[in-house]
Amino acid sequence: MIAEVIIDIAHSEVDKIFDYLCGDDVAAGMRVAVPFGRSTATGFVMRIKEESDFPPEKLKKIYRVEDELPAINRECLLLAQKISARYRCPMALSLRLFLPAEMRTGKVGKTYREFARLSGELPPIKAGARAQMACIQYLEEQGEAPLSELRRMFSSAVNTLIANGAIVTEKRRVMRKPYETVGGGEEKHILTAGQTRAVGTVRTTDKTVTLLHGVTGSGKTEVYLTLIADALRAGKTAIFLVPEISLTPQMFSKLRGRFREKVAILHSGLSAGERFDEWERLRLGEAKIAVGARSAVFAPIENIGLIVIDEEHDGSYSSESSPRYNTFDIAYLRAKYNGCKLVLGSATPSVETYRRAKEGEFELISMPDRINARPLPKVLLVDMRREVRRGNATPFSLALREKLKTCLEKGNQAIIFLNRRGYSQTVMCRDCGNVVKCRNCDVALTYHSEEDCLKCHYCGARYKPLSACPACGGTHIHYMGTGTQRVVGELKKLYPSAKILRMDVDTTSGKEGHYKILKQFADREADILVGTQMVAKGHDFPSVTLVGILDADMSLHFPDYRSGERTFQLVTQVAGRSGRAGEEGEVVLQTYDPENYILRFAAEYDYEGFYAHEIGVRGAMMYPPFVKIVRVMVTGEDEQETLSALRSVYEKLQEIYAAHEEDFLFFNRMHSPIKRIQNKFRYQVLMRMVTSGPLEEIYAVTEEKYKNVLVYVEENPSNLS
Ligand code: ADP
Ligand code: ZN
Repeated sequence: MIAEVIIDIAHSEVDKIFDYLCGDDVAAGMRVAVPFGRSTATGFVMRIKEESDFPPEKLKKIYRVEDELPAINRECLLLAQKISARYRCPMALSLRLFLPAEMRTGKVGKTYREFARLSGELPPIKAGARAQMACIQYLEEQGEAPLSELRRMFSSAVNTLIANGAIVTEKRRVMRKPYETVGGGEEKHILTAGQTRAVGTVRTTDKTVTLLHGVTGSGKTEVYLTLIADALRAGKTAIFLVPEISLTPQMFSKLRGRFREKVAILHSGLSAGERFDEWERLRLGEAKIAVGARSAVFAPIENIGLIVIDEEHDGSYSSESSPRYNTFDIAYLRAKYNGCKLVLGSATPSVETYRRAKEGEFELISMPDRINARPLPKVLLVDMRREVRRGNATPFSLALREKLKTCLEKGNQAIIFLNRRGYSQTVMCRDCGNVVKCRNCDVALTYHSEEDCLKCHYCGARYKPLSACPACGGTHIHYMGTGTQRVVGELKKLYPSAKILRMDVDTTSGKEGHYKILKQFADREADILVGTQMVAKGHDFPSVTLVGILDADMSLHFPDYRSGERTFQLVTQVAGRSGRAGEEGEVVLQTYDPENYILRFAAEYDYEGFYAHEIGVRGAMMYPPFVKIVRVMVTGEDEQETLSALRSVYEKLQEIYAAHEEDFLFFNRMHSPIKRIQNKFRYQVLMRMVTSGPLEEIYAVTEEKYKNVLVYVEENPSNLS
């Protein structure tokens, strides 16, 4: 037999099929060790065939098979090929998407444990051998126990019993199960009329994709769970994707409560061993539901009956390393292959998705009401310019302070949201206007009061705080802007007895970092939660009745055609945390731009109004979804090398441009807005073209490799910095 093998080296020169001789223990999708050049390499078997175009004496033999079962199933092998073709990346890179990283590096393996039970034969036991008697009795009751546990309990008596044949042992594989303690009772609701309609529509529609547009608290999760149960009942599997940040204890316990062992969780907060075992449980078919962030779309399951993408508008669904896939595209291919439905859910769908639904490409379901007709929290727009005029120099408006006081007095909880972490946003010299920047990045530093240092939010570098300006020697150093640390400090002054938690990148590092803070807040160990975007996502805290949004304007002025959309989503999402149970919720939205149409629509929860306005703007300005923005990035540490790569890339792109000029609205090369990040110079060729423009040709340009320079394509990048 002949195996067609892709070598697991991500380089265009070896990105082709190599034929090897193999035995009949080899199947497509398995990993194999093969002789390659003068050394050994790992490869993926793509196909088994009878004959090779090469004469048999030229072919080498596979050394070893690494998997008993194919690591990558047939569907996923096909998918990997499509991904490589679409994003022009080596097959090795797209195949790697389908394996847990720890499997490739070989750093984790299976764990085994030895178990002991009675053999059924009872050799005579010496009178007085009490430990032996107790051990036998224990096993009679338990049936079986881990050997290590027995040894701890009965010490050397265990060895005696093994030696005389009373106990037999057996080594078996055990799975590390994350969050095993999470998962309460089965909380199953009777569906509301709206939920029943939504479920019915997905079941009966002949469209592959359904958009579930339901306001926050409308009960979308219950719809997903019902549809997942449908899939299981039909003997199928399911994929449930959520933004990483929404993988909360509440989410786990809902899923575990309903589906028990059938759920496998894939997410970056798990240990390598746990992640590997969860992946294995899916591959072996022990688990049927893959839950996780975007990479779970590559779950090793077959016979998929449903794919759900919750919070479909979330930016984390676009990959930020090669291949820069879009999760929806992959999910759609899998849905098509398996003939199953793909459900997208959001309270604030992306403009692009909503347009496709409106135009009939996707089924559209709307759930405009909260469960039990609970009202959406009222939003109070506060003009911060007036506060400043009145002499209020704190980050909090008078209205917010009063409402916060009432909220705390009633024993309720509050969330304060702002977009910046750290203490202050920028450190500026008042004498010369110099803004202190990172040495590796062209980015202003942020002061962090707890560590008393300046940090770069792009590369993490730390600097000592300044006593004098490095440019002019002046000593009037000014800390501008407000960050989460400063807000916590100010709140402590205003409400000395309140307990306050902070949630941002600085407080959530480490395994289960988010989880701990969210759990503390859910367990009411704090009254106020201060945080960045992380607090905005799907959390369900029943006691939160007040949400304060301190700097809604921040994201409005982001250099991105989607900044309006982002702001609308953010405000709606954060506001949606308020008043989810008994008491009615309130939201205070502070702004320096109270006339802004985006904020006005958000304050009214008027998605339709927002959409109508936004799609008008996009059309008039020729922004996506009407066109495609394509950016080719060229980055490297050496400026000369980077520039010469840029020249070569630009030339090739220019040829494409010349051949398809009518497809382009814009074509230019320039510095990226941030000229350097992590010591790497950044240049870009920015293009705007019709959606049917020559995308493949542009990708092809990036296939050529440059020494020490990285070249990659971004489609409609979410961040143009
Ligand atoms: P969404 O995901 O749309 O924001 P959730 O799914 O979190 O909303 O539901 C909001 C709340 O309503 C949750 O506390 C959930 O347990 C509850 N809920 C959902 N469906 C029902 C139902 N049919 N009956 C009663 N309560 C429900
Ligand atoms: Zn930096």
